[in-house]
Amino acid sequence: ATNRVFNFAAGPACLPLEVLEQAQADLVSYQGSGMSVMEMSHRSKEFEGIIKSAEADLRKLLDIPDNYKVLFVQGGASTQFAAIPFNFTAPGDAADYVVTGAWSKKAYEEALKLGLKANLAAKGDNKSIPPRDSWKLTPGAKYVHYCDNETIGGVEFPSAPDVGDVPLIADMSSDFLSKPVDVSKYAMIYAGAQKNVGPAGVVIAIVREDLLGHARPDTPTMLDYKVAADNGSMYNTPPCWTIYICGLELKGHRSVGGMRASIYNAMPTAGVEALAEFMGAFRKKHA
Ligand code: PMP
Repeated sequence: ATNRVFNFAAGPACLPLEVLEQAQADLVSYQGSGMSVMEMSHRSKEFEGIIKSAEADLRKLLDIPDNYKVLFVQGGASTQFAAIPFNFTAPGDAADYVVTGAWSKKAYEEALKLGLKANLAAKGDNKSIPPRDSWKLTPGAKYVHYCDNETIGGVEFPSAPDVGDVPLIADMSSDFLSKPVDVSKYAMIYAGAQKNVGPAGVVIAIVREDLLGHARPDTPTMLDYKVAADNGSMYNTPPCWTIYICGLELKGHRSVGGMRASIYNAMPTAGVEALAEFMGAFRKKHA
């Protein structure tokens, strides 16, 4: 593939060439099954193998403890902004939101829309993290939600903020798998796949088991994480092709880390070098 460009798009973002070539090889007949992953039943033994190994590889990569469920859910990270209050609060409950940019603000606004007592525990300037001792956490809050990397402003937490025993929920859409993460510090981690893991169409949610099963009674079935967990992420037809591609990348994943938004995990070193060269030339030209 000589006609590939260095694609710095914010997501959907580039995928490793090996993944695309493997998908191409499997496109018409997946491993001798006589059909494409796009055409096969999600109840087939082939797809069962695909989703199970994608989960197993992710568990290995992130060293996910056994008391966490790995869910493949739909509707993008944006839908989780609504699913989170439905799953983890009852009417009248409070939850805290740390807003450090556009995405955590959207999560906060969605919670307000659902009638949750969403408390703006801290609000940043879109450039830096408000000092931890300035946060106004609510006693008895059901969770603290924050965005680990604000994609637009590039505000990234160096590690999980300390919120004591309150369940911590992180939107890791733009830095998922870009660095080691201690999953045990979180109640839930979620990320849209389309930046660091695969094509658009699936969200990976890692949820501590004891938090499941307490959803509001009016929770739409498709937003209930317990339903997803009990059905192996196949309560309805999952985005099979997307999950298959995620599985291929997860297999070949090497953490590159370091740089921020739009240079996601699949960007090769040569692409970063080309960018650095361009930036140097740009600086000289505009100095
Ligand atoms: N959170 C973050 C941090 C994001 O960067 C994005 C997408 N750019 C979203 C949420 C929304 O994701 P989706 O398009 O999957 O709803």
